[in-house]
Amino acid sequence: MKYPQGSEKQLIQAVTSRKVPAGALPASVGVVVQNVGTARAVHDAVVYRKPLYDKIVTVAGKGIGNPSNLRVKVGTRVRDIVNYACGLQPGLSKVIMGGPMMGFAVSNLDIPVTKTTSAILFLTADEIDTRPHSQCIRCGWCIDACPMGLEPKEIGVYVEAGKGEETRQFGVFDCFECGSCAFVCPAKRPLVQFIRLAKMKAK
Ligand code: SF4
Ligand code: SF4
Repeated sequence: MKYPQGSEKQLIQAVTSRKVPAGALPASVGVVVQNVGTARAVHDAVVYRKPLYDKIVTVAGKGIGNPSNLRVKVGTRVRDIVNYACGLQPGLSKVIMGGPMMGFAVSNLDIPVTKTTSAILFLTADEIDTRPHSQCIRCGWCIDACPMGLEPKEIGVYVEAGKGEETRQFGVFDCFECGSCAFVCPAKRPLVQFIRLAKMKAK
């Protein structure tokens, strides 16, 4: 297994050798993918008639006193989780809702856990890369890294040029924001942010 094998299209191809066409659902190749949490939620709903009102959330990073996996109710404030996990630690620099590759930074702890929250990262300065990004040097590493065969660099260039609405031609809506392209980019370009912006413009 290698990242982003948790992405259902890549997982289906690795396990069954079936390729889900662009824009299609896994059911089109006869497959349904459910993660462990969803399977358990279905079990609890059917067997115990329990609605989905809680989540296992991974709380991690040097910026939190007691990193742990917690079962929390949907709607719980991040601030309350922080207090339960022994509080914020000196040097906290960034709070990320989600994993290190696909999560997004938040500036307010009074936001709730939702049904899609799987992790909250409390990162100190030495755990994040704060170097500014530079121009694309056209190395092509992002293209090699993209599991969907996209050209993230082109999307980024178009967005920077104010042409985000023209990025549909690069398959921007096939991007599932795994973050692999941004991770490998030597110019530290915020490709996932560019792509999110492009999706809004190209709608
Ligand atoms: S985030 Fe980057 S690597 Fe991942 S699917 Fe989108 S364009 Fe490809
Ligand atoms: S990896 Fe970064 S620098 Fe290289 S082509 Fe892609 S966007 Fe440009």
